[in-house]
Amino acid sequence: MRYADERAAVAEAAKELFDRGLVAGTSGNLSLQVEDDLVAITPHGTRYETMTAGQVILVDLEGAVVEGDLQPSVETAIHLRTMATRHDVRSVVHSHPVYASMFAVAHRPIRALIDEFVVECGAEVPCAEYAISGSDCLAEHVVEALGPYGRAALMVNHGLVVAHTDLDHCLALTANIDRTAQIVLGAETLGGAVPLPEEATNLFTTVYEYKVKEAKDET
Ligand SMILES: [Zn+2]
Repeated sequence: MRYADERAAVAEAAKELFDRGLVAGTSGNLSLQVEDDLVAITPHGTRYETMTAGQVILVDLEGAVVEGDLQPSVETAIHLRTMATRHDVRSVVHSHPVYASMFAVAHRPIRALIDEFVVECGAEVPCAEYAISGSDCLAEHVVEALGPYGRAALMVNHGLVVAHTDLDHCLALTANIDRTAQIVLGAETLGGAVPLPEEATNLFTTVYEYKVKEAKDET
């Protein structure tokens, strides 16, 4: 089996996503770029609890199956198009976390109202325009919402997508975005979330963009 360790890492990350309640059932999907034209991606409709390395599919950047017996995720286009346009992105995780999905359903970007979060994610997690699940159009909207520096975008009426340098960063950011969404929602019920001072947002956004540029330079 080619790239057994990397495929095992994708299966492990999928289990962790499930165990942490960031997806339900067999929803969501994860990928890791193992070569310039080769991506390990979770299969369609397969239980995370028992997922094995052998069930993780290898596809090329056009989406053709290179190795694996199952069908790749229906959202494969989102993963491949993001990697094709953003060379710093080697891993993509699409999930349905409860609080982030509330913002997605309300078509509300998640504003970064905590300074440490700005450093990780920029000034906000923007909304990608709606398109039918699994369509090329949805992949285009996600790529557009991520832009040259984005690490995450909400898929409206659907869920969340995170694009990072590796699986661990994707998982950590997915969990942190959901936690931030929960905090912002709670603050709104307490009378309104108060934005960070503009200079703080600008300063931490600069740090964030520097980190993304650094990742781009390394690839
Ligand atoms: Zn989904």
